[in-house]
Amino acid sequence: MNELEQLTRLCANLGAEPAAAATMAAQLQKRATQLAAERKITREAAMHYLLEVLVKARQGESPESISMNRPALSLREKLITRFHAVFGRGPAVITRAPGRIEFIGNHTDYNGGTVLGAAIDRGIWVGLAPREDGRRRFASELSETVIDLPADQLEKQTGEASWTNYPLGVLAALPEFGLRVPEGFDFMAVADLPLGSGLSSSAALEMSSALAFLEITGQHPERETVVKVGRYAENHFVGVPCGILDQGVSGFGQKDHLVFIDCRGPEFAVVPMPAEARFWIFNTHTKHALVDGLYAARHRECMEAARLLGVSQLVDISPEQLAAKAATLPPVEAKRAKHIVEEIARVAATKTALAAGDLKKTGALLTASQRSSQTLFENSTPELDFLVDELIKQPGVFGARLTGGGFGGAVMAMTDTQFNDERAQVVAKAYAARFGSAPEILQTRTGDGAAVVSAS
Ligand code: ADP
Ligand code: MG
Repeated sequence: MNELEQLTRLCANLGAEPAAAATMAAQLQKRATQLAAERKITREAAMHYLLEVLVKARQGESPESISMNRPALSLREKLITRFHAVFGRGPAVITRAPGRIEFIGNHTDYNGGTVLGAAIDRGIWVGLAPREDGRRRFASELSETVIDLPADQLEKQTGEASWTNYPLGVLAALPEFGLRVPEGFDFMAVADLPLGSGLSSSAALEMSSALAFLEITGQHPERETVVKVGRYAENHFVGVPCGILDQGVSGFGQKDHLVFIDCRGPEFAVVPMPAEARFWIFNTHTKHALVDGLYAARHRECMEAARLLGVSQLVDISPEQLAAKAATLPPVEAKRAKHIVEEIARVAATKTALAAGDLKKTGALLTASQRSSQTLFENSTPELDFLVDELIKQPGVFGARLTGGGFGGAVMAMTDTQFNDERAQVVAKAYAARFGSAPEILQTRTGDGAAVVSAS
């Protein structure tokens, strides 16, 4: 459906006769273009504003009460207007779940270690309304097509429909945890979180979907169960072997806090994070051709090191114990074990530094983690190393490291509030001069974890 058809449908849903709906839709298009030029806002923002006025007017709210100065609709409003446009009614439940940053704790999860992550101020919003006809209809900004599936089938989707594997995976996971699934429904997702940028949009989609499905069926399990449902969906339905970090941080995040996860439990806690800290993500969009194999190799090397050291997981050995035994290990296993054991110690040191509000010390630990990735775990790349080196030269940067699995992907810098776009561009330009293309830059800060926003 193109924009004009979508708008015509929306106007008809709002009560206009078919001919009038088509005229209204064309007027909306013209007015959005004018308004965008007048207000110096994007056409999309202008269109959302107009749709908001229209929907609010229908709901009896005076259009004058809607501020003209706002550059764009909030995501909540965007979700509601799109839901109306596509499904001809409003959502019964609205949920939201954030993306996350791996703050520190690199490859510690499968070694039984600890990790600190930050829920960020960007995420995915889901709207849901029940249907009585046994159909499940999925819409998102990713495609124009509404994916229409029967409620009595749960099959993995491909091509254009493959994004629905995340909510479908959640539906497949719920019974595994003794929870009921909703039958038919209309589902809509909108986001201000880039996908495939290492910020775990997949976990955000799973967590927002899970909360929506649970809310609409009147079930309120413990948060830990919701987190496990999300991970199960990703591991067993989508088929990505992620650890507990992604869903754990999206599920337990809090503004001005980090989420601490002891992966053995798993156990979750929050740690206060000074509000002035800012995170800057520099995504190289590079990926090592052999990334899956390299991941598997690191996993194997860690398990082998633990076996040779006589422990079940590397978390069971302290840096001092390892130092005493390191000479008995083959060189590769010794390096991998040293990275993991010291990284777990760095996570603990980071908690202590944060408790004292010491961002300088915290930053130094982040950079130390990068150096360890570079030399011991060998999961960094020249691109990531270069970004870290350039970033830590800049005033206002406390520290920087690769975030996520490594072998490509993104670097995270923790900065003060003075670090700005101009300084970020200095780094981006140096990177472009060296590697031929600029990294994608995103500024963010901590945000709240997954939640039901409204339910009727
Ligand atoms: P990451 O989790 O790092 O962002 P993934 O490849 O794990 O990257 O997940 C990205 C996938 O999640 C997308 O390809 C898409 O299928 C799904 N997804 C992410 N955001 C949205 C969205 N706003 N609407 C629909 N699907 C989304
Ligand atoms: Mg993901």
